[in-house]
Amino acid sequence: MHRVMIHPASYEKCQEAIDRAFDMFPQKIKGKKVVIKPNVLRISRADEHIVTHPAILRAVVDKVEALSPAELIVGDNPGLHAYGDNKLSFERTGLMEASKGYYKNLGDSSTQLEFNTDFLPHVGVSTDIMEADILISLPKFKTHGLTVMTGAIKNSYGILPGAQKARLHQIAGSPERFHEMIVDVFRLRIPDLFIMDAVIGMEGNGPASPDLREIGVVLAADNGVAMDGVVARMMGLDPAGLRFLQKARDVGLGDFDSDKLELDGDMQILPDFNLPPLSGEANAGNPAIRDMMHATMRLLPKADSELCSACEACIDQCPVSALYMAKDIPEVDEDTCITCFCCQEICPEKAMTLQ
Ligand code: SF4
Ligand code: SF4
Repeated sequence: MHRVMIHPASYEKCQEAIDRAFDMFPQKIKGKKVVIKPNVLRISRADEHIVTHPAILRAVVDKVEALSPAELIVGDNPGLHAYGDNKLSFERTGLMEASKGYYKNLGDSSTQLEFNTDFLPHVGVSTDIMEADILISLPKFKTHGLTVMTGAIKNSYGILPGAQKARLHQIAGSPERFHEMIVDVFRLRIPDLFIMDAVIGMEGNGPASPDLREIGVVLAADNGVAMDGVVARMMGLDPAGLRFLQKARDVGLGDFDSDKLELDGDMQILPDFNLPPLSGEANAGNPAIRDMMHATMRLLPKADSELCSACEACIDQCPVSALYMAKDIPEVDEDTCITCFCCQEICPEKAMTLQ
């Protein structure tokens, strides 16, 4: 039986909900490496509610800090449009201040892992994510044009640094396969605790829609399938109709059936909740969505000869050894590169460009 907490909260008063989440789902934090991963889609203002609200992050950081971790890191890999603006995304959203000095650019280093060969044989996952003893995911209650909703499972797509996210969109090629693929990414490192900002959620054409919805709760769970099942119901959806939830259940990652869930708190089904215009089964085979996915460019790193000091830091950092020195400047092997862009993150001269 999975348990899901639904606790009333505002951004001014959310510590009680966070404390309750840690009471219900205790984590052995003392002496451990803890990574907190909010949803930081891109540079935006906190009041646009595109990202996890800083008040929620701050309350979680305060809580974890008090439990004496050996190391605490707050970070994410923003989407492609904010790629290269990791720090700026945290600063502009107010999440940098809420991180209380624990921010780290998760794009600095990645670890290569085997992946589903239907998509790619390997992907790079942020090394700090893989090295975390405890991973705390802070998703946002939002809609999403491709996956209908973005919650616990979709938040883990941000464990991939650089342009891998865009590349996998392209390789997936259809919304159905994209649903499958996000579950495969989620499985690479399943978070230990999920705390969702649903104080103000998003409806309409997410994940960056201007249509906001006051909900006034924080959700928590130690199972992402169960949490997303509850979120789907709150949006007025049948969780069994969402392919990513079906797949997650089929591969044994959890359950969303009502008789497998124990709710701690009141679940409100939001009346007349506005779903994305191309949501659900309507997405399948929709030419507009398909064209969008196929239009995603494949970017590759290229060193600028004017700026490069030939320090070879990028070559050392590349998780798949795709870079080699040619005439005092790094060159990329296009077939080997997995577009994690750790080379660009690490370059001290800002010499790595994307082409
Ligand atoms: S060359 Fe750069 S972008 Fe490509 S895999 Fe190596 S570090 Fe990642
Ligand atoms: S890290 Fe930057 S400066 Fe160093 S070799 Fe690579 S591109 Fe050149």
